[in-house]
Amino acid sequence: MTQMSTFAAPDVALPDGRLYVAGEWERGTGAEITSVFPADGSINRVLKGASRADGERAIARAKAAQADPAWRGLKPHERARHLYAIADGIEANADRIAAIQTRDTGKTLRETGALAASAAATFRYFGAVLETSDEDLTTRRGDALTLSVHEPLGLVAAITPWNSPIASDAQKVAPALAAGNAVLLKPASWSPLVSLELARIVDEAGLPKGLFSVLPGAGREIGNLLVEHPDIAKVSFTGGTETGRRIARQAAEKLMPVSLELGGKSPTIVCADADLDLALAGVLFGIFSSTGQSCIAGSRLFVERPVYDAFVSRLVAATKALKVGHPHDPATQVAPLVHLDHRAEVADHVARALAEGAKLLCGGGAPEGELYENGSYYLPTILARVTNADRICRDEVFGPVLVVMPFEDEDDLIALANDNDYGLACGIYSRDFPKSWRLGRAINAGTIWVNTYKQFSISAPFGGEKDSGMGREKGRQGIRAYMAQKSFYVDVSGTPLPWAAAQVMT
Ligand code: NAD
Repeated sequence: MTQMSTFAAPDVALPDGRLYVAGEWERGTGAEITSVFPADGSINRVLKGASRADGERAIARAKAAQADPAWRGLKPHERARHLYAIADGIEANADRIAAIQTRDTGKTLRETGALAASAAATFRYFGAVLETSDEDLTTRRGDALTLSVHEPLGLVAAITPWNSPIASDAQKVAPALAAGNAVLLKPASWSPLVSLELARIVDEAGLPKGLFSVLPGAGREIGNLLVEHPDIAKVSFTGGTETGRRIARQAAEKLMPVSLELGGKSPTIVCADADLDLALAGVLFGIFSSTGQSCIAGSRLFVERPVYDAFVSRLVAATKALKVGHPHDPATQVAPLVHLDHRAEVADHVARALAEGAKLLCGGGAPEGELYENGSYYLPTILARVTNADRICRDEVFGPVLVVMPFEDEDDLIALANDNDYGLACGIYSRDFPKSWRLGRAINAGTIWVNTYKQFSISAPFGGEKDSGMGREKGRQGIRAYMAQKSFYVDVSGTPLPWAAAQVMT
């Protein structure tokens, strides 16, 4: 860990704390929310979240706006213009968005800048998808032309976590609006401000009033209302597995479609034949970027036995050299965790692992020094002498904590990698592509990275298996997840149907 350096804090006015209730800026009447700057514990903003009454008002207005032909009747290229205008707005305000998101979450400005750029690209992409999605003329089996078309679902609730708000908001809001729906977004209580900033941009971009709401508030109050309300036609959720399971149960009661992007405990695999420098950089970035607060964090490392000792000792040395620092410092690699409460949870995971016999190779606590005193910093941590069955190898820590284990051969590895409740992502480092292909096909994960990690393209579908969720976001089909499919039969023969014909002709 290197010492602190000087840096300038961006000068940015934070959103004033009003909610965006279907196109109107209003003070919330729900539970109080406090947004804290994780780097020093200072308060960004105290605001009132959305109550059930606020949510019901937003839903009623959204219903009217969504049914209005001024929105429903727009041609695809006309609706796409709204998405492009939002993308332009995000790009024009990217520095501001990054600064606000850094204040909300403690992530580095470098990372929040990239998230803002990705959000703009997501709106642009789904505008383009909307303009270029064809409806299908399906193969005819009789005298009717058969067509498959898609309609908006109506009202969509998007519920997002605190770790990458602007990007996860965009991943839901862009395809849902492109599909012709109205969207009610509920961000997490630790990170309400950047989503409210998105509302300002959407408003200024001229989206017809009522189609978009941002309703921060307690999950059990406003989140629950959105899930259970009869007018909400779909919930798109990103967050923890237990919350997702609960939402899925409630959705089953309403027979409502849900998409769930949940947690992970993703394996990273270093084969003996790998480019070990590449692998080392990939493992470090895979687990310690975003301070490990990433659903796809490569948090279980498997290293092939012949290179295990040498690789792990290089990894520990490189981890100790990471710059743990202030999110405004351009040199920072590992920023604070989102909240002191979250740091306490991360510390509990590590303490339990040590009590159960894990060996601490580095980290395992908060850094010392004036810079770190009031922030929620936690050192990048590596634990060894664990087995894949230990809780530290099964539970999602959502922090900068890596467990390392050796593996013997391919069969051993596949069994170990798949012996886990999650199935979100996997990284494979090897120079042998056929081997990477075999491993990647055999391991349960929604995304496989070969000789890289955490690379993303909006055109590649994303989602998980097993406890990591269901459904896919992104990709050309991403827009269809927010539409209802409808079949048309158009008779072209003019011939009456058989037994009815006799009746009609007499
Ligand atoms: P969380 O499940 O606690 O909360 C997520 C959202 O759900 C928040 O907005 C929260 O207020 C809301 N919520 C909570 N209870 C609710 C309820 N009963 N009804 C409706 N909404 C409710 O998750 P978190 O702590 O904010 O985020 C961390 C989790 O998110 C991790 O498990 C992480 O893996 C997961 N995550 C997954 C992905 C992915 O794409 N797979 C991406 C990012 C984060």
